Amino acid sequence: MVNFTIQNVLIAVSDDYATVDVQIVDGAIAAISPNLQVIGTAIDGKNKLLLPGFFNAHTHSSEMWQRGIMSMFPLELWLAELYDFAPLDPEQVYLSALGTAVETLLSGGTSVVDHLVLIPGLELETIAIATRAYREVGIRAFIAPLIQDESLTAGMPSGESAQTHEPYFRSAAATLEIIEEAVRQFHRPDEGVNILVAPTGIQLCTDALFQGCTELSDRYNLCRHSHLLETRAQEKLAEEKYGCTAVEHLKRIGYLSNKTSLAHCVWLNDADIAILAETQSTVVHNPLSNLRLGSGIAPILKYRQAGVNVTFGCDGASSNDSQDLLEAIKMGSILHNVTDSDYQHWITPRQAVEMASLGGAKGLNIADKLGSLTVDKQADLVLYDLTNLSLLPRTDPIGLLVLGRPTNVVDSAWVNGKQIVADGKVTTINVDELRQELFNRSQWETKRKSETVVQIEAHYRTVMGL
Ligand SMILES: [Zn+2]
Repeated sequence: MVNFTIQNVLIAVSDDYATVDVQIVDGAIAAISPNLQVIGTAIDGKNKLLLPGFFNAHTHSSEMWQRGIMSMFPLELWLAELYDFAPLDPEQVYLSALGTAVETLLSGGTSVVDHLVLIPGLELETIAIATRAYREVGIRAFIAPLIQDESLTAGMPSGESAQTHEPYFRSAAATLEIIEEAVRQFHRPDEGVNILVAPTGIQLCTDALFQGCTELSDRYNLCRHSHLLETRAQEKLAEEKYGCTAVEHLKRIGYLSNKTSLAHCVWLNDADIAILAETQSTVVHNPLSNLRLGSGIAPILKYRQAGVNVTFGCDGASSNDSQDLLEAIKMGSILHNVTDSDYQHWITPRQAVEMASLGGAKGLNIADKLGSLTVDKQADLVLYDLTNLSLLPRTDPIGLLVLGRPTNVVDSAWVNGKQIVADGKVTTINVDELRQELFNRSQWETKRKSETVVQIEAHYRTVMGL
């Protein structure tokens, strides 16, 4: 383990900034104070801002292969198109995991929650290769293998029509066995690789799958992840399926907890919000994806007022269509100034930074180890270059970072005290080679036709009253 001391660096303190030295010993923050003795390598922090690493708290790495081309569809039709063209090649999974890690790191993230789409029949191989990619880059990885046990059409409300659905190709029990095996093989929190249980959501999962995930979570101390009420269609579906809201149902079957993070949370009512607060569940706000798919605007300020922990995600690159965490943080903050007129609740840049760092750590039940510049916490750190043109002229550094349009501002990043970005470049992998591979394995495309969308679109329009 390399020890180092960052000298004369700007950090945020209460509502001001201080210039300090930060000592890192054995992967942890050992001291924060002016004029410290240099331990290990000295790093010049002059005119730089040091923040805890952010969490990209919800994404799907392999969607990178379809960014920029997906039709302007709502989630249910978009998903049908996505899966018709989803990559089926482990090498593609590997490259898009590398790409997701690099883009996350270069926009302030040191942790990524990858709700990983599994190649049917190659589930463990998919998890293995994503694990390999994240280990190579050195980003802290929370791999949440995306599982379901109902077929795609079951994800839409039936409405007046009697719908029947093909059974899913694998049972809940068989899927849970795969996840348990993945935990045995890949869950190594001390090495920065974590496996989560992650049923995709109430729209495509039975109670048996959710409950099996809860049991695994309890047995192996795993965090729990899921999509929740991303669309109005899912709200209707929950009513049809359970006769109550999805949140009430998830509470009843025991899925909600202080280690549960829930992506989207757009269509919740006040009683649902109270349940999230009571169960200490975390909301992952994916504002760009919610806009892109027309899902709606999540009531984030209501969550915050109710005491619900909120953090940010990019969501997959097919619904974003980037992995720029700073962009998601900016949008996810100022978006609510139009939905809530009481400006006293609007999210300030400093609050946004705390949501992205400590909020992310809380959502993964590791706030005692990560998420803030605190002595004894692990050194997942990002150093921003305040002399970058996009952060000038000099005003409030965090204001510039969150509200501006920061470009190439990450100078250095460390995960567990290991430097993986230096001079604005990821040092652990060859990014030029990655760029070349992504180029070579793709082509310019303009039009595609999804057969599944053709089959389901009429029903979707009827049931949604379009
Ligand atoms: Zn998602």
